[in-house]
Amino acid sequence: MKYFQIVFLPLLLCCSLVAQAQNITVRIYADRSVSEFTLTATEGRYDIIDKEKILYTLNEGETAHIKFANSKSLKINDTLRSIRGMVHVRGNVQSAKFTIASPQKRFAKRTYDNDVFLRPEENTFTLINDVGFDNYLAGVIEAEGGSKAHIEYYKAQAVLCRSYAVRYFKKHLHEGYNLCDGVHCQAFKGSCKTAVISEATRATSGIVIVDSAQRIASATFYANSGGQTVNSEDLWGGDHYYLRSKPDPYSEGRPGYAWEKTIPEKDWRMYLLAKGFFVLDTVNYDFTFNQPERMKYFKFYEQDKLLELKTMRSDLQLRSTFFSVQHDSSCHTVTLKGKGYGHGVGLSQEGAMAMAEQNFTYDKIIHFYFTGVLLKNINTLSFYKIE
Ligand SMILES: [Zn+2]
Repeated sequence: MKYFQIVFLPLLLCCSLVAQAQNITVRIYADRSVSEFTLTATEGRYDIIDKEKILYTLNEGETAHIKFANSKSLKINDTLRSIRGMVHVRGNVQSAKFTIASPQKRFAKRTYDNDVFLRPEENTFTLINDVGFDNYLAGVIEAEGGSKAHIEYYKAQAVLCRSYAVRYFKKHLHEGYNLCDGVHCQAFKGSCKTAVISEATRATSGIVIVDSAQRIASATFYANSGGQTVNSEDLWGGDHYYLRSKPDPYSEGRPGYAWEKTIPEKDWRMYLLAKGFFVLDTVNYDFTFNQPERMKYFKFYEQDKLLELKTMRSDLQLRSTFFSVQHDSSCHTVTLKGKGYGHGVGLSQEGAMAMAEQNFTYDKIIHFYFTGVLLKNINTLSFYKIE
């Protein structure tokens, strides 16, 4: 196993997680093609800069209409301006915020912190938010949903989202930025408007989870464990000692704890048949299947065929793999009685919320779901192992 120095390559700016700047570059509106938009200086003043030359200045509250022309020019309020590459939209204060909207309402209006780069492509712009790391994380946590939880829950979530961002810091480096704003990386919809989330992010600034070999841990989470978490290797094949299946009483009774799905018996027969089980039309089977504790495979009678529950979850669009099957032969239906919501590996968000309400601090919450990890400040890690 080799040790690598933490050296983040120079990006748009020389941003580094270990340096004071602590910025991250995130492609925004990554799933949209953006050829024109309005840009408002929501907080502070913004300069639109082409290689040190100020093309236009937006004072606080002012809006400009920006339109793609070609790779060498763009229009600002209908005036053609020639450019020599990527344009920097730079705020004059640390708290600067800008708002982007589509005149034709082709994409959602959103407000972002700090700066943005406009990179001309063939017919559109790639928009890259150069944002303070904690501002980014607060936005990610807010985009995850829910603004009414306890601060210790948000602190735990901040540590997980930060660990993910550090672990995958180079995911889009070949495209000129760190992460995108879609679920491919972490969903991000701009500036956080919930004070308690921003406070939780600041309070844990720099804290990440690492394993016993000082590697940034796989900081996975989902909505509800259904009362038992899942081994990482049962889902992804990657065996991490800190992602072990364990009882999780904190998730019980929360909104995502239980679910049910009723399927006509004939559809269930066809599904099992399609998956390679031996099912005869003429036989009245008992389709009952019990899963008192989490299992990896579905079995039908004594047949050798094993079907991975994660495959069934995906095929049948189930909330979790933790379900039993009840058969009602008089109604000719089977009912899947399930527990949990999501993949089950790592932290249960609803369980973590319950723990926070019961006065567990964020480090206790993390240690409950990630057995034997260490909480470290990224600035104190002079090096770590990359798998
Ligand atoms: Zn991505």
